Amino acid sequence: MLNLERWDRNIRWLGEAAQQKIFNTTLAIFGCGGLGAIFVQSAMHVGFNKFLLIDPDRVELSNFNRLLGVQESDVGKYKVEFLEQTVLSFNPQAFVKTFPTDLQNLLDTGDLLPTPEVWISGLDNNLSRLALQLFAAQQGKPLLDLGSGIILSTEGTLQEKGAQVRFYRPGGPCLLCQGLKVQGYSETLEQARRATGYIQNTDLSPPSVITLNAVIANIGLNLLINYLIKPEDQHPCYLYYDELNYRLLSIEIYSDPRCPICGQDGIEKTVLPKK
Ligand SMILES: [Zn+2]
Repeated sequence: MLNLERWDRNIRWLGEAAQQKIFNTTLAIFGCGGLGAIFVQSAMHVGFNKFLLIDPDRVELSNFNRLLGVQESDVGKYKVEFLEQTVLSFNPQAFVKTFPTDLQNLLDTGDLLPTPEVWISGLDNNLSRLALQLFAAQQGKPLLDLGSGIILSTEGTLQEKGAQVRFYRPGGPCLLCQGLKVQGYSETLEQARRATGYIQNTDLSPPSVITLNAVIANIGLNLLINYLIKPEDQHPCYLYYDELNYRLLSIEIYSDPRCPICGQDGIEKTVLPKK
């Protein structure tokens, strides 16, 4: 049940019905590293109460620059376990289910129950993002994808520092149409990817900072809250934060009619919408 005293300062701007909607919404977070963890931690303060956490990795000392609240005693724990403890310490009544496994194993086993309303991607590689996008399209579920990155020249000077939110709703545009780079995909979309400023090298192990992750995770969370409260409104699908120039860009993108996911003959058209 919603605790009105705990969420009083939220309810003053959200209203009680919206706070209840947030309280009832189940989020599945794929990738509980720097981006996914800070998203969950902000989401619990907003009043989200039901989390499915998916990540096969364990906490290492190299994660300490971007995991809020991590302690040396957490080293060696699964990241989902660390995050579960964080959420339950904050709210012992929260529902948290952990999956210390990778995305493909989870999709293969079909264990992802109860079915979440929104999928969140804090994944660090594009093939996993594509697999998740395919699954979200098949399930008729929205997918919020977070990414951040820093590009250095070979001399080590900073070339680019930024982050993006990509938001897929059934009907598109999907992540492919929003520039997700997948090897072998069309040159046209590759050009679109460059034009939208998508950050390169996210499949490698780039530098990572909590300040950048916190900005983009919370921009994504704001977008999600607005969508949940008023799904019928217009919401941006692609937001790019250019930290070197302190700019937030909302980029309009349309579905490619040839897209295998959200195009005219895409897979989302071949499955019945799920409730
Ligand atoms: Zn598409």
